[in-house]
Amino acid sequence: MKIAIIGAGFGGMAAAYDLRNAGHEVTIFESADFVGGLASGFKEPHWDWSVEKFYHHWFASDEHMLGLIKELGLSDQVIFPRPYTVLLHNGKWYPFDSILKALLFPGLGFGLNKIRFGLVGLYLRLTNNWKPLEQVTVEEWMRKWAGKQVYEQMWQPLVIGKFGPHYKDVNMAWMWARLKARTTNLGTFKGGFQAFADSFAEILRDAGVEIRLGERVESINREQDGLRVGSEAFDKVLVTTSPGLMAKLCPELSKSYLRGLLELKSMGAVVMVMSLKHQLSEQGYYWFSLPKEEGFPFLALVEHTNYVSPEHFGGDHILYAGDYLEAGHEYFSLSQEELLERFAPAFKRINPKFELDWVKKAWVFKTNYAQPVPLVNHSENIPAIETPVQGLYFASMSQVYPWDRGTNFAVEIGRKAAKVMQE
Ligand SMILES: Cc1cc2nc3c(=O)[nH]c(=O)nc-3n(C[C@H](O)[C@H](O)[C@H](O)COP(=O)(O)OP(=O)(O)OC[C@H]3O[C@@H](n4cnc5c(N)ncnc54)[C@H](O)[C@@H]3O)c2cc1C
Repeated sequence: MKIAIIGAGFGGMAAAYDLRNAGHEVTIFESADFVGGLASGFKEPHWDWSVEKFYHHWFASDEHMLGLIKELGLSDQVIFPRPYTVLLHNGKWYPFDSILKALLFPGLGFGLNKIRFGLVGLYLRLTNNWKPLEQVTVEEWMRKWAGKQVYEQMWQPLVIGKFGPHYKDVNMAWMWARLKARTTNLGTFKGGFQAFADSFAEILRDAGVEIRLGERVESINREQDGLRVGSEAFDKVLVTTSPGLMAKLCPELSKSYLRGLLELKSMGAVVMVMSLKHQLSEQGYYWFSLPKEEGFPFLALVEHTNYVSPEHFGGDHILYAGDYLEAGHEYFSLSQEELLERFAPAFKRINPKFELDWVKKAWVFKTNYAQPVPLVNHSENIPAIETPVQGLYFASMSQVYPWDRGTNFAVEIGRKAAKVMQE
């Protein structure tokens, strides 16, 4: 078959890998002039490694991604350092990246709350039965089983941070998936995710996949000789963009499928990356979870070089500050200078010695499609990979549910789509 894939993120590339291995003629159309999609990175001339535009790491449980890397013969390039994740309580930072560490967190007080927190965490980690959990919201379930204080102290800040105004509507299966699939050791690729994406693209090209960078697909139309992408006809087409873009690309989709795509909710993200002259967290903390009510102007603060060495970046210290936001939030329209002005005072709360002249350079990355919002009974609203237009398929972050989005699940759904396309 002659197959077109729209998007050279990890989903599109994973699908291309299987389809090409099965003997098909595969062309990937990518609007950007690089591969890697949301997980892509960039590099300064004096850096040996790239930095992801949006902070990225893998979990040791990311079997689809780590399995693919093994198949590609690149496992020796994966490293799993053990960074520190911390949570704020009464002005002090406490480690918070395992059930045990969380049990020692003073914000929970002593006694019953700790027991409830531990039991709920254990239950969610052990159960595989997520279906009943999607029928209730995190808010309802946690208030009932973990209790008011545990929910408000530990879990509510997380859902508010991720989902903003939608936080009360997010279903409990999302929280289950998060706790189920995460580990304390975090993995990355030597050279950064972009180095992996480039190696993967090279392997695909060597195998005969054509990757056309800088080619934005404007529409996909069903015609007698197949599906038309630009001026070319293909037997089958896989789209790996956001649901909103998919709806625009193919208006011939049935009304109900289009409605399904357009009704899916998602959050965007604005992330600032900075190269600093000095280390911000001298304690070596990597990930700071910042409850919104503490007044930080962002949700996540991540010091990348407390995870991988600043040696890879010519001695620069790499810092991320970012937030999940609804499209239209004012951060989307602020310039890099304006955002830095808003963010900089908060860095002093991490290290009082911080001065603006520590910032050598800053970059801002924005996306409208960063995090799908799973509402109650979400499994009933997931668009099928096989669309009603013959030969047209769709695989995106919004369909990896009950799992939360991630490159691991992009690989899983890309490979699943490749299978469905050949059935
Ligand atoms: C802030 C943030 C933090 C994250 N952290 C992590 C993490 O720690 N670990 C992890 O594993 N994942 C993380 N993720 C999620 C991860 O980046 C995504 O799940 C994954 O990259 C999605 O891959 P994809 O191939 O499905 O989509 P994408 O990467 O979005 O790929 C789609 C591709 O389609 C292209 N495209 C769009 N429209 C067109 C068009 N009309 N024509 C041609 N091409 C087009 C785009 O340019 C893009 O390259 C994070 C995401 C964000 C936003």
